[in-house]
Amino acid sequence: MAFQFVDLHSHSTASDGTFAPAAVARFAHEAGLAGFALTDHDTIAGLAEAAAESARLGLAFLPGIEISAVPPIENGTLHILGYGIDPQNTVLTEMARQLIEARDNRNPQIISRLQELGIDITMDEPLAQAQGGVLGRPHIAALLVKKGVVKSIKQAFDEYLGQGGKAYYDKERLAPRDAISRIRRAKGLPVLAHPIQLRTTNEAQLETVLKDLVDLGLAGIEVIHSDHTPADVEKYAALATRYNLLKTGGSDFHGSNKKDINLGYANGRRIPKEWMDELVRRTQS
Ligand code: AMP
Ligand code: FE
Ligand code: FE
Ligand code: ZN
Repeated sequence: MAFQFVDLHSHSTASDGTFAPAAVARFAHEAGLAGFALTDHDTIAGLAEAAAESARLGLAFLPGIEISAVPPIENGTLHILGYGIDPQNTVLTEMARQLIEARDNRNPQIISRLQELGIDITMDEPLAQAQGGVLGRPHIAALLVKKGVVKSIKQAFDEYLGQGGKAYYDKERLAPRDAISRIRRAKGLPVLAHPIQLRTTNEAQLETVLKDLVDLGLAGIEVIHSDHTPADVEKYAALATRYNLLKTGGSDFHGSNKKDINLGYANGRRIPKEWMDELVRRTQS
């Protein structure tokens, strides 16, 4: 049997991706993948649709979520993926509600600041851009491109929305301990997303951060990701082995909100189906 591949990190219109959950499933099928996971930010709203379409296509599907937590390193980012979570679990639904409330507190601050900077924008525009999905900065970025304020989503983040940008506002985040324990209580496996984005400055610091997360109940590490170089992939794979962590990988597909990323490919790398099989086995045991 030929090698089979999967993609364990993707976003739909339920959060800041630009394709509906069913469309993401169809892309996975067309890309020849054996399976995929939908990991929208702070929501499970897309999971039922993605699961139904995957079943129709004969594609393996793993429900997921991606949670932002307080970063251990200033200027860094800490995202925790939760795989195999039970969408009915009230710990999970309550966490999602709380995280969306944190966004609802932050987003109007960004829009007010953009107005102060002389940009013609009102809160109903990003809401329309998000089409009822969880509203994130990529929606605001896409709107700034549409308005001609910036030329690209990247420029929108560099100049306005990213850390150090003119309209940067942080949102209230969960402590890593809470993000991990809540995913566990919702029957999910917590996995450190794109460790490169932690912005650790040396190996020892990375290992300290990882060890702390493992002590809190981390089950895996995203070894392959679009932001990872081949050297990064090797480094994270070695850490996975050392700390007995599950290895995962994904593209972080966002549709046209991240134009250079195609489903199934992470900086040219593909993710072996065995990694998904192992996750599924561990989820069920
Ligand atoms: P939010 O969750 O609303 O704070 O927005 C964070 C999301 O914005 C991330 O999950 C990415 O999808 C996206 N993002 C963050 N930084 C950048 C960047 N420099 N360029 C493009 N997208 C970005
Ligand atoms: Fe995103
Ligand atoms: Fe992320
Ligand atoms: Zn993501």
